[in-house]
Amino acid sequence: MNILLKAGREKSLLRRHPWIFSGAIQPLDDEPASGATVDLLSFNKQFLARASYSPSSQIRARVWTFEDEPIDKEFFRQKIRAAIAMRSTFQVSGFSDAVRLIYAESDGIPGLIVDRYGDMLVLQSLTAGSEYWKETFADLLLEETGCSTIYERSDADVRELEGLKPNSGLLRGDNPQLSQGIPAGPITIHEHALKFNVNFASGHKTGFYLDQRLNRLRVRELAKDKDVLDCFCYTGGFSVNALAGGAKSVLSVDSSADALELCKENIALNHLPSEKHTVLEGDVFQLLRKFRDENRSFDMIVLDPPKFAPTAMHAKKATRAYKDINLLAFKLLRSNGILVTFSCSGGVDEALFQKIIAGAALDAGVDAQIVEHLAQAPDHPVSLHFPEGAYLKGLVCVKR
Ligand code: SAH
Repeated sequence: MNILLKAGREKSLLRRHPWIFSGAIQPLDDEPASGATVDLLSFNKQFLARASYSPSSQIRARVWTFEDEPIDKEFFRQKIRAAIAMRSTFQVSGFSDAVRLIYAESDGIPGLIVDRYGDMLVLQSLTAGSEYWKETFADLLLEETGCSTIYERSDADVRELEGLKPNSGLLRGDNPQLSQGIPAGPITIHEHALKFNVNFASGHKTGFYLDQRLNRLRVRELAKDKDVLDCFCYTGGFSVNALAGGAKSVLSVDSSADALELCKENIALNHLPSEKHTVLEGDVFQLLRKFRDENRSFDMIVLDPPKFAPTAMHAKKATRAYKDINLLAFKLLRSNGILVTFSCSGGVDEALFQKIIAGAALDAGVDAQIVEHLAQAPDHPVSLHFPEGAYLKGLVCVKR
């Protein structure tokens, strides 16, 4: 089916951005089915792109290709192969058996996320288009990876915008426990010579923050002999690495008791000194204030909060939240102490984030320098035509 764009609305497609918003298309006689493949034509009927149709979403179509070529199993096989080959070239899995194999728009497959944890694949389908092709994707993933099990974690809120219900469970494979719907135990993954138990069935995202892989390693390298505070620690990615790097002490803070349990488990799993480790359940905003009032201090603070600003609309409120925790962290740091601070908010770009951190240091009355800029790991690439794919930014600052 053809979809005609309004005059002038072809510009983003000519720049190879893969989204078409509902306001850009001319009224339709017949509405295509959810996820169906459509041709996007300019107002003067020139072919622009072949895309999937999302009837409920403001993002009404997402581009599969800008060429006049068939969208079929072989088309997706090539995309999946290219994505896996890139990970292999960059040897992401050389140091880890947990890797993001497909990162949606960034790998040319809008809506599809696939993470590999050892021999298991965890798939997230987030859009009408990826839902339409889900069974094909599942077959291809088994064929192209040699894995035999795929667990689906299509329970992210964004599916609602696409008119899709949450869906989780075994998608491929004959795991007797999972196929009977028995809650699955964690899977143990290996990353840079450390082990982590990952709750792929119930954890955040697909269970683990793969995007922080290299940044965790950097924290390990910097943590020796330091008193470390790991805020928003989740299942202990940074805490485990800090202890493995020889930290003097690590305090892990999170509001989720379940996450803290897994954090302790991960420290035991790696035979790290539990006597150097403390967990504290609570709200980071309040606890940082309490630490300030108690005159506590640290040599290294990691701040890896949840997404405060999913889109630019939320940027103002998010700015206040980022500033608040970073200001308090600067106060709690000893002289020459290291702040490793992140934002995973798409609505706060790198320049704004740096400005916020500068404002936090200023208001804390401290002088500090940026020593390193951090980002998402290379298995979360960014298409040059889809800058929205870049969301994780981090700064390593030293307090003077
Ligand atoms: N650093 C982690 C990922 C952090 S995810 C890693 O590398 O694996 C964000 C975490 O923040 C979640 O575990 C969530 O439970 C926690 N969280 C969210 N709001 C919080 C708050 N106000 N105080 C403490 N923890 C919070």
